[in-house]
Amino acid sequence: MNLRVIKSPAEMRAYSDSIRAAGKTIGLVPTMGYLHEGHLSLVRKANELADITIVSIFVNPTQFAPGEDLDSYPRDFVRDRELLVRNNTDVIFYPEPKDIYGKNHKTAINTKGITNILEGSTRPTHFQGVTTIVSILFNIIKPHVAIFGQKDAQQAAVIKRMTQDLHFGIDINIHPIVREIDGLAMSSRNIYLSKSEREDALVLSKSIQRAEELIREKINDAVTIIAEMRKIVHSVKSSDLDYISFVESDSFEKVNNLVEGREYYILIACRIGKTRLIDNSLITF
Ligand code: AMP
Repeated sequence: MNLRVIKSPAEMRAYSDSIRAAGKTIGLVPTMGYLHEGHLSLVRKANELADITIVSIFVNPTQFAPGEDLDSYPRDFVRDRELLVRNNTDVIFYPEPKDIYGKNHKTAINTKGITNILEGSTRPTHFQGVTTIVSILFNIIKPHVAIFGQKDAQQAAVIKRMTQDLHFGIDINIHPIVREIDGLAMSSRNIYLSKSEREDALVLSKSIQRAEELIREKINDAVTIIAEMRKIVHSVKSSDLDYISFVESDSFEKVNNLVEGREYYILIACRIGKTRLIDNSLITF
């Protein structure tokens, strides 16, 4: 199979137009590269849902705040391309920042409310960067369906909201979290962890597993469950907890009392040493 690498937005647009004119559907997987099995599961989903699979690789500068890891973010295009060949990708869209954000770029997309809490509270400019780049990618690539990971559950909810609000007419598909065998959610940033931090990082998935157990026991008080989760997080010295929260799965509104039959996310963000990690679980009480 021939995998094409397209760098220019104009060429990408022309390619997508030709695919649409031929009556075929396009599935898009937006990524920042340094791919792992989590990303590849989204690619395989795109293969299932659409005729043509396009993966974008773009470390988007506008979603990083000053002092965050934009410059050190891991990159390995040769390896990414090899993995995508093996997973039946048709096109990699691999633009340069200057081709996406022109010199006079002045426009940003802002989704209100849901972007100010949790991840948005710690990273106030993050979601505006995400919604802006995803809109730009949607406009260039014109996919029929876009696949995002539940790993970034709040991001997925923000993108769903934006896609509806701006009438993009694109189907947003959310794919479950892929984990390492020991439970750690796969992330390009896991490469930052030292050997001992890699061990300590298990407190995120372990605390979530503990919460799931308590939920199976029908403990409906989020405060009690969060206290149990905190104990696990604080059992390692390298941890610095940012938040643990229970939210309604659609609105992302915080909840304290879990109600029978309702769907919630349990969300955690925690630093292990210098590396900020997130994890979550979608549960029905
Ligand atoms: P990133 O390259 O980190 O921007 O991620 C690109 C896409 O892959 C996003 O939709 C993420 O939610 C998704 N993703 C990242 N890690 C995982 C994972 N462990 N399981 C499933 N999806 C993931």
